[in-house]
Amino acid sequence: MRLLVVEDDKDLNRQLFTALEGAGYAVDRAYDGEEAQFLGETEPYDAIVLDLGLPKKDGVSVLEAWRAAGRSAPVLILTARDRWSDKVRGFDAGADDYVAKPFHMEEVLARLRALLRRSAGHATAELVSGLVRLDTRASRVLVDGNPVKLTSHEYRLLSYLMHHAGRVVSRAELVEHLYDQDFDRDSNTIEVFVGRLRKKLGVDLIQTMRGLGYLVENAELSEQAAKAGAGGGPTGKRGA
Ligand code: CA
Repeated sequence: MRLLVVEDDKDLNRQLFTALEGAGYAVDRAYDGEEAQFLGETEPYDAIVLDLGLPKKDGVSVLEAWRAAGRSAPVLILTARDRWSDKVRGFDAGADDYVAKPFHMEEVLARLRALLRRSAGHATAELVSGLVRLDTRASRVLVDGNPVKLTSHEYRLLSYLMHHAGRVVSRAELVEHLYDQDFDRDSNTIEVFVGRLRKKLGVDLIQTMRGLGYLVENAELSEQAAKAGAGGGPTGKRGA
């Protein structure tokens, strides 16, 4: 998952960056409204943390510009405490959630997890596919109940595929969502990461769809299939 942090307060920007990177996200940063608007319009972020009081262009105007340009990434706004009118303007401009300053970093992390899973169509913090459980709260992965130690890149890759289970994800999409702006991107490294991840998981979770990308099966669908048994049953895929 790749995030954008927009905050002109350098200390706060760094604190957010450190916490989010530590939680396993790829993170880009902007310090004013114009830079933020440009990045938000050109890069495919999975979620954005947006301060409202910014130099050059205020946060609400930036958000309005993103929405007008059809950019739909979930946005968590940072507002000053007691400025209820800021929250109203923010929501009206297309914000999905807010945190009032000063905030606890844990709350920002929890709200982002909720935004990310909801935008991918999941209601719970734990994603399950077959024998693999991914706990987004602890950035932890269990295979058949046993913890598996992954590097942050491997976790990011698995988390992205499991958030988008049931859909084929191309290598180009993975490159865009797993690395920050400054990373030396090379789609061949994705294959290497997938290989390592498969080895560590030791189960048949990630399917290669030749020429298209990778697929992790949707847990609900595989459960339904198991219940239906070999005799068949509905085969229609839900969602897209
Ligand atoms: Ca500010």
